[in-house]
Amino acid sequence: MLSSIEKLQKFFRLEIERGYDNRAVVGGLDKILPAWESEARSNKLSDEIIQLIITGLKTYPTLEPVQRAEAIVEMTAQLEAPGIQKGDETNQQAPSPAAKQAAEPAAQASLERKEQPRPRPQPAASKGQPSNQARRASARVYGTETPGLDASVQVLQGVGSRLAQTLSTIGLNTLEDLLYYFPRRYDDYSQLKPINRLTFGEETTVLGTVQSVHTRPIRNGKMQMTEAVISDGTGAMRVNWFNQPWLASKMPAGTQVVLAGKIEQYMGRLTMTNPEMEPIETEHLHTNRIVPVYSLTAQLNQKNLRRMMFQTISYWAPRITDYLPERVRGSVKLIDLSTALLNIHFPESQDMLDIARWRLAFDEIFLLQLGVLSQKRSWQQASAQVFDAPQEWLDQQITRLPFALTGAQARSIADVRSDLASGRPMDRLIQGDVGSGKTVIAAIAAAIVTREGAQAAIMAPTSILAEQHFRSISRLLIETVEEDSQAPLKPEEMRLLIGDTPENEKQEIRAGLENGSIKVVIGTHAIIESPIQFNRLQLAVIDEQHRFGVSQRAALRSKGENPHLLVMTATPIPRSLALTVYGDLDLSVMDEMPPGRQPVSTHVLRPVERERGYNLMRSQIEQGRQAFIIYPLVEQGDSEDTLAAVEEHKRLQSAIFTKLRVGLMHGRMKQEDKDRVMNSFRKGDYDILVSTTVVEVGVDVPNATVMLIEGANRFGLAQLHQLRGRVGRGSDQSFCLLIPDNEDAMENERLSVMSETNDGFVLAERDLQQRGPGEFLGTRQAGFSELKLANLTDVRLIEKARQQALALFEDDPELSAPENQPLAKRLQEFWENGKGDIS
Ligand code: ADP
Ligand code: MG
Repeated sequence: MLSSIEKLQKFFRLEIERGYDNRAVVGGLDKILPAWESEARSNKLSDEIIQLIITGLKTYPTLEPVQRAEAIVEMTAQLEAPGIQKGDETNQQAPSPAAKQAAEPAAQASLERKEQPRPRPQPAASKGQPSNQARRASARVYGTETPGLDASVQVLQGVGSRLAQTLSTIGLNTLEDLLYYFPRRYDDYSQLKPINRLTFGEETTVLGTVQSVHTRPIRNGKMQMTEAVISDGTGAMRVNWFNQPWLASKMPAGTQVVLAGKIEQYMGRLTMTNPEMEPIETEHLHTNRIVPVYSLTAQLNQKNLRRMMFQTISYWAPRITDYLPERVRGSVKLIDLSTALLNIHFPESQDMLDIARWRLAFDEIFLLQLGVLSQKRSWQQASAQVFDAPQEWLDQQITRLPFALTGAQARSIADVRSDLASGRPMDRLIQGDVGSGKTVIAAIAAAIVTREGAQAAIMAPTSILAEQHFRSISRLLIETVEEDSQAPLKPEEMRLLIGDTPENEKQEIRAGLENGSIKVVIGTHAIIESPIQFNRLQLAVIDEQHRFGVSQRAALRSKGENPHLLVMTATPIPRSLALTVYGDLDLSVMDEMPPGRQPVSTHVLRPVERERGYNLMRSQIEQGRQAFIIYPLVEQGDSEDTLAAVEEHKRLQSAIFTKLRVGLMHGRMKQEDKDRVMNSFRKGDYDILVSTTVVEVGVDVPNATVMLIEGANRFGLAQLHQLRGRVGRGSDQSFCLLIPDNEDAMENERLSVMSETNDGFVLAERDLQQRGPGEFLGTRQAGFSELKLANLTDVRLIEKARQQALALFEDDPELSAPENQPLAKRLQEFWENGKGDIS
């Protein structure tokens, strides 16, 4: 790599690690320019690139962190563009997107379909989501661009009603479904490795003949192991499967098989465990080098499905209309849809497969972006009440807070203030790590709105949290710190509404909200569930957004007329996801902690070292601090392998911490009991709180300095981070101790990541990589089923797709131009298939 590029990338990496503070270089990034420019010139970098970097670095200091991140992504992309780093493409294993693009024009020239049927003009896409029926009707009237694709799979040779039914169980009803049923993996017969050249740790495909196979019980008959010896002339390898005894009969000695999986080592010999196994289809050995492998269901075999796919794809893919406008394809350098579909199923080569995948992955993200952006547009077309808080008044409010705002808080408040004054409904996500101080943003927003007599509702996912908000927002908005300062609200103007609020009080609150005497209501989903009418709801705040579904967001919003919406989340959402899942929201990132916070010192302890953890706790408690101990289970009966809160609480109180006061809280307790325990802990009546994850979200007890998590291997990364966020909230050094269930779990990757970093964003990126977006977001945010190829951690892909979507909307916001009709139709379909619920 060229030295000038290498240097730049090094500084960029450093800058990213530092959180874009422009200090990767003393005095600011632009200080490297003079030296860098002369180096770049001697490296013969193009003038264009050099200018771009110079401008980029010169403007860098003036940007906000989010924009800085964008600028770095942009500059990095430019540096990676084809032709910049000569000779770099040739020795890469998988072509980088940049390399792919370089390869594309050639591929396109040789593969471009000759005649594309011209789409007929269609009227503007309707903004709503038409019923299926309406969609079909409109398809009939205006003509689908590719007639026949919605025909049943039964039109295929050899597919009768029985097979059609089987196919239907995996969602394959029409020919179009088949086109988009992408292979799960590929067997690359051109990349087969002889057994004697296999190396430990690689993922590979092996082809061989079964020498012997048998199944036997292991672990006292609790499991069955099938063991086969596979040889290929260069060597032999032992392969094991657990609990799949039927395999033995599927591959008697002499069968030729393909195995795909990871090469492991056992007693010094190479082996595979639970690899995927299929009989060889000899025709592939000579003809198609890369063979698709599809997910199957019972009664469907790979060979038949593949044949059916081939029949469908080879006939229909060439006839399909590319819905992507020419302009988008051109500027992102994508191959046409027909070629992409042909190659995703039956790749001509590894390169073509990569290019096809890139095109189709782009489409998925592009459609997702179009969807969220059009939602945002339609929401923002509405007008909203203007709340123009005078600077003087705002300054006064800020001065009467019990602390000085952090820079990030001040920026977020400025964002919110200008949203509220814009005349358009605010639609903002405040994203800030646990403890970054989001509550005050909600409080100030509420103050701005109530100042003009309107109402605000603040909704939290649990009663504990709602009560805590009630307490802290009361402190911020009601209590007067100095005699002469003016608190924005009177005590009776702010009320708490949770499920357990007594009925007569609920009625009182309802009446107060209806006649407008109550200005701020803080509570749980009880706010949207009870038949509450607001007099003038103008601000809806949702805390811990990921805990709520979209419908709840909408329900709260519908309690007012185009109210301003503020959502807050402590789940650090990687930038890539923020742009997709929350792409319809404006984003304020709180990337700064209140002063004096120290990172929580985190350690993984062996189960036998538990006593050390207890000692640390004792010494902290002696200094007046408090501690949490978290268990994965409420009661032991739930599972034998791990500890549980109820039993452990007894043991700890009676045998370990006999002189200390140990409280117990878990999800099966009545709300009022939980509240009582939590309040006692907050007041310092307990030294230790034994709990399950009910304390996970938001609980704020700054005096607690130790968080001990038992069965830590059972928790997800996000959950561990949230739990750890319960300590380190004051200025004292805090500790987080992670104890896995058993010795074997010590090697847990999540635990080691936890001890490496306190940075929620880094953890979130890791979490996303490890679990995938569906799980990362939780079931409530499901709806990513249509994202089959796109990798949501691929920021570059996402930025590209978003750029294109924005540009398209700029020109043709309603997608009404004739050339955009196929796209409008595809967008409707994509969105109907359940994508509508993600934002
Ligand atoms: P979050 O909701 O983002 O997790 P909170 O709003 O609960 O964070 O704030 C965490 C703690 O930090 C609270 O005790 C709060 O009073 C305190 N805090 C918030 N902002 C500041 C600040 N600017 N300076 C000092 N302490 C602050
Ligand atoms: Mg909070």
